[in-house]
Amino acid sequence: LRELNKLKSNFLSMVSHELRTPLTTIQGYITYLSTEKPGNLNPAQKEYLKISEETADILNHLIEELLDLSKIEAGGFKVNLKAVDMAEVINKAIVSLQLFADKQGIALENNLPSDLPLVRADKERILQVVKNLLENAIKFNQRGGKVCLAASNQSNDNKVAFCVSDTGIGIAEDELDKIFDKFYQVDSSGKRKYAGCGLGLAISKSIIELHKGRIWVESKIGAGSKFFFELTKYKD
Ligand code: ADP
Repeated sequence: LRELNKLKSNFLSMVSHELRTPLTTIQGYITYLSTEKPGNLNPAQKEYLKISEETADILNHLIEELLDLSKIEAGGFKVNLKAVDMAEVINKAIVSLQLFADKQGIALENNLPSDLPLVRADKERILQVVKNLLENAIKFNQRGGKVCLAASNQSNDNKVAFCVSDTGIGIAEDELDKIFDKFYQVDSSGKRKYAGCGLGLAISKSIIELHKGRIWVESKIGAGSKFFFELTKYKD
C-alpha cells in the first residue's frame, strides 16, 4: 500500500510539472499578444484573448492545487512560521478577490477588530487559506449576498480565531466533515454549476494543521456558512 501511495504521489507530481511547463508558455504568449506589440487586435480578438487568459488562469490554479496535494502526500509541504499581521493578509486576500466578488454581485465586508495581535504563521500559506475560504464564500453564494471577515481575540487565550461567513447556499449536516476530504464536492455531478476540483479545503486543512491550529465549519442548508480557523498568538 505504501509503494502504491508513493507511485501515486510521483505520478501526480510528474503530471503537474508536465502540465505546468506548456501552460507557462501559453500564458506568456497570451500576455505578449495582449500588449499588441506583435500587431493590433480588433475587439473580437481582444475578447477571445481575455477568455483564453481567464481559462488559462483556472488551469494554472488547478495545477497549483495538484502540486500542493502531491507535496502534502509526499510529506514535503513545509511552513515557515513567523510573526504575521493578519489584517495585512486579509486585506491582500480581499483586494485579490474584489473583482470576482463584484462580478458575482457579492459584497465583501471586513469586520476585523483594530487591536488584532500578531500570530505565528506562514504568511503566504495563510494567505492561500484565506483566499480559498473567501473564494468559496463568494462562489457558493447568491447575487446580492454578503461575505464577512471577522476575528475574535480573547485576551485570556493564546489563540485567535478567524471567521469567513457567507449568506450562500449552506451545507447539509452530514456533509460538514466530508468537505475537508480531498476531491470531495457536495455536488460532483457533471452538470454542477460551480467550478473547482474539491482540493481547496483539504489543502487549507493541511496548512492549518501544520500551524498546529484548527479549522472547522458551521452551516445549515440555505442559511449560509461560517468557516473558522484558529492560530496561535506570536510571542517573542
Ligand atoms: P472546490 O471549491 O474546488 O469544489 P473545496 O475543497 O474548496 O473545493 O470545497 C469542497 C466543497 O465544499 C465544495 O465543492 C462545496 O460543495 C463545499 N463548500 C465549500 N465552501 C462552501 C461554502 N462557503 N458554502 C457552501 N458550500 C461550500
